Amino acid sequence: MLKLSACASIDPAVQTALDHISVNVRKEAWGRQTNSIKAFKKAVKDHGMRIQRGKCVWCEARVGHRGRRSAHRDHVAPKDIYPDWTFEAKNIILSCEYCNGFQVKEALDTIKVRAADYSKCKFWIVHPYFDDPAKHIGFIIKKNRVVIKGLSQKGIWTVRELRLQSATATAARAIEIVIDRAKLSAQDLSLIRQAMEAL
Ligand SMILES: [Zn+2]
Repeated sequence: MLKLSACASIDPAVQTALDHISVNVRKEAWGRQTNSIKAFKKAVKDHGMRIQRGKCVWCEARVGHRGRRSAHRDHVAPKDIYPDWTFEAKNIILSCEYCNGFQVKEALDTIKVRAADYSKCKFWIVHPYFDDPAKHIGFIIKKNRVVIKGLSQKGIWTVRELRLQSATATAARAIEIVIDRAKLSAQDLSLIRQAMEAL
């Protein structure tokens, strides 16, 4: 899991326009094509691709515009349960379609104690902006497998609920570690990425 230092900065005029959308229609508004919504979505996606270095925040598998795993704008506290934070930049990270998919995260309730201010909520999940994942989640390399382990109550919850110990996530981590270790040239790396995307 990645630690993220700062969320996307949103143009104040855009944020003001979004904050004026009534909370009870904010979730539905997410799919609309107004200029402010498009600007917000572009800002969080561009920022995420840059600071997450093209990886899913949860499982660290690569995501990309051309990849088999497309990058999803993932609401840490789901908009289905907490529509108030649909347009809160601190609530959005990029994740892969496996982690954010219907079977895993989609409407998982990640908040233990809700507060009026988003930053003051107590989360069940290891929060990429507020927590240091290394304190909550550890990795053990066993032969060629990278096994993930929860080191705290939050870490155990996150590994279990996001299924980070699944075969798919374990295989993706192993591939990334081998590629990182190989220190390939940009050209070879690009060839490997293209081959993987074609699978
Ligand atoms: Zn993922």
